[in-house]
Amino acid sequence: MAAYEAVVGLEIHARLLTESKLFCSCPAAFGAEPNEQVCEVCAALPGALPRLNGRAVELAARAGLALQCRVNAFSLFSRKNYFYPDLPNGYQTSQYAPPICEHGHLDVLVGGSVRRIGITRIHMEDDAGKCVHGQYGATLVDLNRAGTPLIEIVSEPDLRGAEEAAAFMRQIHSLLVYLGITDGNMEEGSLRCDANVSLRPRGMTALTTRTEIKNLNSFRNVQRAIAYEMERQEACLEDGGVVVQETRLFDAVRQITLPMRDKEDAHDYRYFPTPDLPPVLVREEQLRQWRESLPELPVPRARRFVESYGLAPEEAGLLTADRPTADYFEEAAALSGLPLRVARLMVGELLRECSARGISPAGAAMTPARLSELARLIEDGTLSQRMAHEIFADLFASGASPAAYARERNHIQVSDAGELEAAVDAVLADHPAEAEGYRQGKTKLLSFLVGQVMRRTRGQANPALVNHLLRNKLG
Ligand code: ZN
Ligand code: MN
Repeated sequence: MAAYEAVVGLEIHARLLTESKLFCSCPAAFGAEPNEQVCEVCAALPGALPRLNGRAVELAARAGLALQCRVNAFSLFSRKNYFYPDLPNGYQTSQYAPPICEHGHLDVLVGGSVRRIGITRIHMEDDAGKCVHGQYGATLVDLNRAGTPLIEIVSEPDLRGAEEAAAFMRQIHSLLVYLGITDGNMEEGSLRCDANVSLRPRGMTALTTRTEIKNLNSFRNVQRAIAYEMERQEACLEDGGVVVQETRLFDAVRQITLPMRDKEDAHDYRYFPTPDLPPVLVREEQLRQWRESLPELPVPRARRFVESYGLAPEEAGLLTADRPTADYFEEAAALSGLPLRVARLMVGELLRECSARGISPAGAAMTPARLSELARLIEDGTLSQRMAHEIFADLFASGASPAAYARERNHIQVSDAGELEAAVDAVLADHPAEAEGYRQGKTKLLSFLVGQVMRRTRGQANPALVNHLLRNKLG
């Protein structure tokens, strides 16, 4: 790919976390029996009129604020006309010009450096229903999803490769989930993405012909589809061919993209403002309230964790991936006064237990108070890091007091030098060759000897103290 630069832009559809649909009061929840959540509006019966869901406007505006967009005081819904069996109106009600939000950006962390990716626009639109193929030898239409509220986030063509695009989508996902704008459930289609991909000779700044890959529904597929498409276009250009503007599909089984149809342009859709809905007006006072109630966002929060608690950037990133995790960390750090130990326990133990059980730290039996108690026990030498690791799963599942648990099971660390000296002497007597080797300069043997002492004391010795004693005795 040395001769070419990839130019990638994403269009991300996120389902808004509202109770009801965008233009009617049918429930928007996923998973009901087919056609149980349908009324005359979302089935497009003649004469039925839409009414805009105010909560959807609020969520779309919040997404815009979080992505540093201008939120327009005035925006319009238009009809985007096309025919498909699961689209009963014969058009999608979407925002064309002006959309609710424009001109934002997101700073994305890729490979250790920050890239600013422009956000062209965010608009609201309704989702289509679903065709279910094959049952009773026919294709059936389920309209439960028809009319559920979406936002479409359109990026500038600022992304320079597959990995960067996947990182951008991940960060959009975590931001939207963090703010409660979407549930982010990708298996249920709450976040889907189309990718526009083109190549141009390095050094060129103009845009070249692009292809659009439709409906990518996982981070992995975004990355693989774009990577494949880049290779395909490169091979085509190297052969002296031209890239044809078209819409392509990603075949996740074969890991390739395939042509689907000629790419349509905006004018093909015959957009026009819908006569059924008044303009969307956002008052300044309302916008101010939404802006002020926006919580601290993950990226600034991660930066604050690094600066005020001294966490490593990777730790801070993991601990701010969602709000309950970040809140849990701050509570335990405040209770214990030991932010570094708390971070280490969370990253090394708690998050793993949580993801194994599919729960959030907020729902764990082990509260921030219990975790901070554990951090204290390690700090004052009562428990070693290793003992804490051994008993962590039990503590996590039961929510028991770490101090009481450790006492009952005799998991108290031996920090008494007199008591440990006997064990150290015994180990040196059992392993004269290794002791001699260490004295000759094979310093790596020290960890072997420490390990022997730990074994002898069934893991209860204070490793730092064992280290110290061994070094002393070995001169
Ligand atoms: Zn309805
Ligand atoms: Mn769309």
